[in-house]
Amino acid sequence: MDNGWLSVLLQHYNFPAALAAFAGIVVLTKTLKFLAFKLKPLKNMRDINKTRDKPKWNTPKYPPIVKANQKVGLWTNLVFFTLMLPFFVTLEPQPLWRVLLDIVIILMFYDFFYYLTHRFWFHGKGKMRQVHAVHHQARNPTYLDAHYVHPLETLVGLSLYMGSIAVLSLLLGPYHVVTVMLTFVIFTQLNIINHCFVELDYFPFKTLTWITRKHKVHHENMHKGNYATITLLYDRMFGTLD
Ligand SMILES: [Zn+2]
Ligand SMILES: [Zn+2]
Repeated sequence: MDNGWLSVLLQHYNFPAALAAFAGIVVLTKTLKFLAFKLKPLKNMRDINKTRDKPKWNTPKYPPIVKANQKVGLWTNLVFFTLMLPFFVTLEPQPLWRVLLDIVIILMFYDFFYYLTHRFWFHGKGKMRQVHAVHHQARNPTYLDAHYVHPLETLVGLSLYMGSIAVLSLLLGPYHVVTVMLTFVIFTQLNIINHCFVELDYFPFKTLTWITRKHKVHHENMHKGNYATITLLYDRMFGTLD
């Protein structure tokens, strides 16, 4: 192997920053969950989801899919945090506006390509429709259904997110650790939260309730809209909001 090429590559490999991002994601996720479930209405909703998940977990079809899905998630994340992210993340300070702008850009860029993938590939006419149909079996989704996804679909979804980070970073330069932490937490948690059963139609839970209702509509059958996951902006723009 050409040594010059390797040393240039290694110069850009920032493992401590990627590790800091990973640790930050774990701590932030745990802290947010701890604080959220201090609120009684959210705790009640979590209990309802647990009660509804139990019979699903006891069916023969759920555990193998959920476990396979988690396995793929684990391996994809391992590759991302060790082989990809170290090239795209930095601990060097960045101004707050840059962090905030990057968060919006990453999430909107990803959501646009996820929208297209979901609408035209997962809901298209090819084989991927059958793969996606596994997830659509859940007509009244609860927490567990966020993980009831064919492993191939999980791989595509995560690759799209990780690819978005990579492509944008090549264009805009490395991201601050906080940018990576926040986008990752928003991305993963929104993908779980939108499947939960939440009926809290009052302040400050109205938006949360709306998010879950909109995704429940998407699960009613495979002809409904609401394809995006981060915001439903693209559904609004392209006339697929249901
Ligand atoms: Zn779908
Ligand atoms: Zn879903």
